[in-house]
Amino acid sequence: MHVPLVLTDFLDRAVHLYGEKAAVIDGDRTYTYAEMQGRVNQLSRGLKALSIEKGDKVAYLAPNSLEMLEGFYGVFQVGGVMTSLNTRLRPEDYLFILNHSESKVLFVDEELYLLIELVRHKLEMVKTIIIHSATRDHDGCLNYEEWLKEFSNAPFDCVELEETDYASLLYTSGTTGDPKGVLLTHRANYLHAMSAMHHLRISDEDKLLHVLPMFHVNGWGSPFYYTANGATQIMLRKVDPAVLLEKVEKYGVSVMHMAPTVLNMVLEEAKRTKITVDHPLRVVIAGSAPPPAFVRKVEEELGWTFIQVYGMTEISPLITISEIRSPLEVQSNSERYRLKAKTGYEMIGSKVRVVDELGEPVSNDGKSIGEIATRSNNVMQGYYKNNEATSAAIRNGWLYTGDMATIDENGYIEIVDRKKDVIISGGENISSIEVESILYEHPGVLEAAVIAVPHEKWGEVPHAVVVVRDGHTLTEEELVTFAQSKLARFKIPKAFTFMDQLPKTASGKIQKVVIRKQFWDESG
Ligand code: ATP
Ligand code: MG
Repeated sequence: MHVPLVLTDFLDRAVHLYGEKAAVIDGDRTYTYAEMQGRVNQLSRGLKALSIEKGDKVAYLAPNSLEMLEGFYGVFQVGGVMTSLNTRLRPEDYLFILNHSESKVLFVDEELYLLIELVRHKLEMVKTIIIHSATRDHDGCLNYEEWLKEFSNAPFDCVELEETDYASLLYTSGTTGDPKGVLLTHRANYLHAMSAMHHLRISDEDKLLHVLPMFHVNGWGSPFYYTANGATQIMLRKVDPAVLLEKVEKYGVSVMHMAPTVLNMVLEEAKRTKITVDHPLRVVIAGSAPPPAFVRKVEEELGWTFIQVYGMTEISPLITISEIRSPLEVQSNSERYRLKAKTGYEMIGSKVRVVDELGEPVSNDGKSIGEIATRSNNVMQGYYKNNEATSAAIRNGWLYTGDMATIDENGYIEIVDRKKDVIISGGENISSIEVESILYEHPGVLEAAVIAVPHEKWGEVPHAVVVVRDGHTLTEEELVTFAQSKLARFKIPKAFTFMDQLPKTASGKIQKVVIRKQFWDESG
């Protein structure tokens, strides 16, 4: 008999095995798995009453929250496709995504509703807006808690799902341009969850603090593997390092996923308040490449276990992990940190290659650079309503990531740069990430981004934008002298700009496209 791999299985399993255990903690609200399933059933009945059927898109615009977590399963039980929206967009972006995705119902947190209200009259398909955490009435909208109460929490007869049915329509971060809609099936999300739960060693003893935004694929995919194993999921609504550390202590958090930029802020806060966490804590880093010096800080100063993963929306998202296992012999701590700073080895279920322009694997000498290509059940069906972008990304069954990397004889992959961020100066390729990691070694540097700016003679030259750590002063000359001993001359930034902060995506990625625009515009 064919047993489809569908995401609703994960909640059913948790309720069966861990029904009375805390499933979710969001502020002063705690629900057990059994209680959460009751709410999920109410939600599914509510969606059915709104005529949501298999394949219909249901949109969420919410911070990390209980409502978001129960939303997944409530939507899947009626066969809906969840479209979660980045909480940091502009009203016109929401209008575009809601119309483009043809979402029929929108769940929105009261704090974010204002952004929708401005464009509400132009929404083409959204028939119903339901407001989470409502403190007052909003014209023509439903109040989530009041609305839920109308429906029974008794077991719900889930619609018949196939593993090839869509579970999600997620939009990419928009780090390099306009966000693209990515369609992922139940099977893709399910198999990704199986692989991730193995590699991250998730168990019922885990307490996850949701730091990465749940609307983004990385935060989006994780509830499945924590739910399946009966772990407790704690919500962090806003990224505030002091609140984060408070929750880590209060709940005995054992695992968190975040971007290196956020971890950097947490490191600063931990140093400032001299906080020590005296229980084991794994921190999973995703989204951009950290330098080895950063790995050392996390492991030595905080005593946390550092794990790096790599992926993208188009692949559910994770495909490599920086696990260190035999037969690799790790002689010293510095060797360990160096390996952990790489994006690591392919995860179970994914084939990952580094290929040249003809699609042939580059030499595994740890030096030759090629593009990461991957093939697996995790790969998207395509970009929603964008065949051109789909056929550019998926060629001969392989998804081309747009990320440039090397691969060594052990199969360890190291990201060199995004294809779009490589600086081409006098015919030489410069990896912006390499230059940034040298700058990060300077104790006065809190954040650094290196971009290409146009140059008459060299075509492009590297330009560094730096945020100075509190309590330090830094000059351009100091940084040049520092870089001289560590970098080839042509890689040393030709100019430095100091800023108070760098523009970032909601998941904490530095938006070089925004920084670049400023300099390219300024230089004409
Ligand atoms: P857009 O595609 O809209 O420009 P985006 O690529 O940032 O945005 P995501 O799918 O959220 O959207 O991010 C995937 C990208 O993030 C990868 O292609 C890669 O460039 C980067 N990335 C993810 N993990 C890592 C990592 N561990 N090291 C370096 N880069 C990473
Ligand atoms: Mg991308």
